[in-house]
Amino acid sequence: MKRQLVVIGNGMAGARAVEEILARGGGDAFDITIFGDEPYGNYNRIMLSHVLSGEENDADIFLNALPWYRENNITLHAGVRVERVDRYSKHVFAADGRVVPYDVLIIATGSHSFLPPMDGLYTPSGSVRHGVFTFRTMDDTRKMVQFAQHEHHRRAVVIGGGLLGLEAARGLQAYGLGVAVVHSGGHLMNAQIGPDGGAILRRSVEALGIEVHTGGRTTAVLGQDRITGVRLRDDTELNCDMVVVTAGIRPNVDVAVVSGLPVERAIVVDDHLRVMDEEDIYAVGECVQHRGEVYGLVAPLWEQAAVLADQVTGVDHSSVYLGSRTATKLKVAGVDVASMGLPGPERDTDEHIVFSEPSRGVFKSIVIRDNKMVGATLLGDSRKVAYLTQAFDQGLPLPEERLSLMFDLGSPGEEEGVAELADSAQVCNCNGVSKGTLVAAVQGGCRSVPAAMDATRAGKGCGSCKLLVSQVVEWAAGGAVEVDPAASYYVPGIPLDKAALMSRIRELGLRSVSQVFAALAPGSAEDAKSKMGLASLLKMMLAGQYIDERDARFINDRVHANIQRDGTFSVVPQMKGGVTSVQQLRTIADVAEKHNIPMIKLTGGQRIDLLGVPKEDLPQVWADLDMPSGYAYGKSFRTVKTCVGKDYCRFGTGDSTGLGISLETRFQGIESPAKLKLAVSGCPRNCAESLVKDVGVVAVEGGRWEIYIGGAAGAHIRKGDLLVTVDTPEEVTLLAGRFMQYYRENANWLERTYAFVPRVGIDKIRSVILDDSEGIAARLDAAMQASVDSYVDPWSERDDPLTPGQFRTSLPLTVLPQVPVR
Ligand SMILES: Cc1cc2nc3c(=O)[nH]c(=O)nc-3n(C[C@H](O)[C@H](O)[C@H](O)COP(=O)(O)OP(=O)(O)OC[C@H]3O[C@@H](n4cnc5c(N)ncnc54)[C@H](O)[C@@H]3O)c2cc1C
Ligand code: SF4
Repeated sequence: MKRQLVVIGNGMAGARAVEEILARGGGDAFDITIFGDEPYGNYNRIMLSHVLSGEENDADIFLNALPWYRENNITLHAGVRVERVDRYSKHVFAADGRVVPYDVLIIATGSHSFLPPMDGLYTPSGSVRHGVFTFRTMDDTRKMVQFAQHEHHRRAVVIGGGLLGLEAARGLQAYGLGVAVVHSGGHLMNAQIGPDGGAILRRSVEALGIEVHTGGRTTAVLGQDRITGVRLRDDTELNCDMVVVTAGIRPNVDVAVVSGLPVERAIVVDDHLRVMDEEDIYAVGECVQHRGEVYGLVAPLWEQAAVLADQVTGVDHSSVYLGSRTATKLKVAGVDVASMGLPGPERDTDEHIVFSEPSRGVFKSIVIRDNKMVGATLLGDSRKVAYLTQAFDQGLPLPEERLSLMFDLGSPGEEEGVAELADSAQVCNCNGVSKGTLVAAVQGGCRSVPAAMDATRAGKGCGSCKLLVSQVVEWAAGGAVEVDPAASYYVPGIPLDKAALMSRIRELGLRSVSQVFAALAPGSAEDAKSKMGLASLLKMMLAGQYIDERDARFINDRVHANIQRDGTFSVVPQMKGGVTSVQQLRTIADVAEKHNIPMIKLTGGQRIDLLGVPKEDLPQVWADLDMPSGYAYGKSFRTVKTCVGKDYCRFGTGDSTGLGISLETRFQGIESPAKLKLAVSGCPRNCAESLVKDVGVVAVEGGRWEIYIGGAAGAHIRKGDLLVTVDTPEEVTLLAGRFMQYYRENANWLERTYAFVPRVGIDKIRSVILDDSEGIAARLDAAMQASVDSYVDPWSERDDPLTPGQFRTSLPLTVLPQVPVR
């Protein structure tokens, strides 16, 4: 019988320990249960800095999303906190009442942000004040982004000028906020770099427009109803609307303390990662104190997880963890900071090599002890970082000519440096990938840098090791590295660009996603990341001939509603051109009342959104509404926004409402590489905002209509290009449809028109759409007509679910506020 392995904490260390255990065959020995009090799969916390700055989407930073747990037979209790452990009866007790027995227990509870004492930090009821944020979790990051996006929030103060504080400050600037950093140390990042480097770093940070106050301690958060500023120890007051506290972390040890486990600064473990004096309890990650050290970075936890897995599975009982050397890099574009080991010399015999060029923001310092590098700081020029990191990690022999450690003066050439590395040398610290793993990936067929990165995850953390990763791949491939052909693939799993893929699909008469994989994927292997793009392409190409397979779709497309943060869905019935009727309004009101809809909201696309509908209620809500879907989800044609138009408006020259309704009727729900939003305005005053839509139509003098394409007013703003001015609504309909079909056939998957139109060029598009320069106009029109003819309202599936689980209750993600009226 399998033994029970329970893990408390579903963060980077807990999940990594489980991955290592599975890699050693632990899946056969254990039934694995993981508790995580965050309501998600396991994500790369490091990347939250990039999510905050808008460089990454939070959906893209998952290391193991929910299917991974299912595929590995792991029971995940996401969003469930463990409160205590009974070490004698060997059970864990969770906050939701679950009691789970274990044979082996792993505690991986990580840390939480430390909030230093300050007046005005808490509300009278004891919660942290609205407008004060910590920066630790995905929820923290989302809340910060939401708050920062408010246009009346103009200034932020970040408390703490370490790595996290500087990354937070830079991230917040992306929302147009003015940011000040208050740091109690004498210089920024004083835990990692010395005062001289700190002074240069300060200049670089200030050059980004970030205000810096060093040696300043915040004593109070000011303001009554909302935050107005902070006060420093010397009574200076800094105005702000939001405060972000990044003043350090504290290990999460509550569970260990109440369960009677040994805790000093953190949970005390031995060299096997076994909790001191315990037989069957291990701990790993930031909640751990090993030989007096508590680490706040990921590299140590990768090393710990490997040893822990050797021990738990019994694969290698001699495996020991002896502590880690740590190196860090600031993830702020434009400010290169890498530091490892000691910031400066400690002993009289330590060698200290320093180069400083403040005017260029460059500072380099290296500390050498007994001919080994024990510390380095690189600011403003990190070209040597890869070699120095390895010299530091591996204790490599150093060149006689010390200066060559900093500059390319006949130092070990990069190739030589790579060749010298041991197989076990860690290349990517964020994801714990060694040189040996990368070399094996190259030997296993990854001939390009991105392919090796995909296969191993190397370089997919903070990104600072990408140079070294490519050097290792190049070296391992003997210089025969290929440029990644996958860059031109329409979907990653099929080695064809869009035109070739479409022509092969036509030639072979393929009709479903699985048929495409079987015929065209290497080894006929199905690739989850390719399914949505393929499903959309097939539907576009084949119209009614397409064979639908539900697993090829994203959740929104499977249940025809838009998933919300808490796992409920939003339901938007069709309201063509934004026009409604008494009957429709009454029905919507009745449905909202009957189903206790927590939020009714008008959307930006002139429709009514019923928010907070559980998945299992969707069919009944649609049935009660008895209206067609408004397509507020999915990669498809969505709405046509219209203005009042000539019937009612004093300025109107065209029937914008009528044309909008007719366009929406015609193109409703057609599949597309990305969403399509349209608008029609009745005169150049443009009340429907037609110039910033994928296709925008404007009535102009003389009863004519201008058609604009490639506009956007979301995260990206672009005024559309004028395609043509035509005389009749019929011409608008024909040419808009022809353009959309051309876009559907030629755009990359998820490429919006605002990227497609400038990429292809308006002149080229005009020549194809208007002058029929390629002789395809009639075919484009016919293909669009076929899609229009094959339209079926997806909400008709309500009576006949396609799969048993289509409308089954889904896992709650997070609790959203109930806001009936604001
Ligand atoms: C914004 C940011 C940027 C960072 N950048 C870097 C970087 O560039 N380089 C680097 O090396 N490191 C970086 N770090 C640090 C790195 O993320 C951590 O070292 C790493 O996540 C620690 O892993 P862990 O599993 O120990 O803790 P965590 O990842 O915090 O995981 C612990 C998990 O346990 C859960 N938990 C706690 N108590 C319980 C309980 N009682 N029951 C159930 N679940 C519980 C927590 O909710 C959490 O999900 C960064 C951290 C942040 C926040
Ligand atoms: S765009 Fe012109 S016609 Fe339409 S509402 Fe505005 S002013 Fe009136």
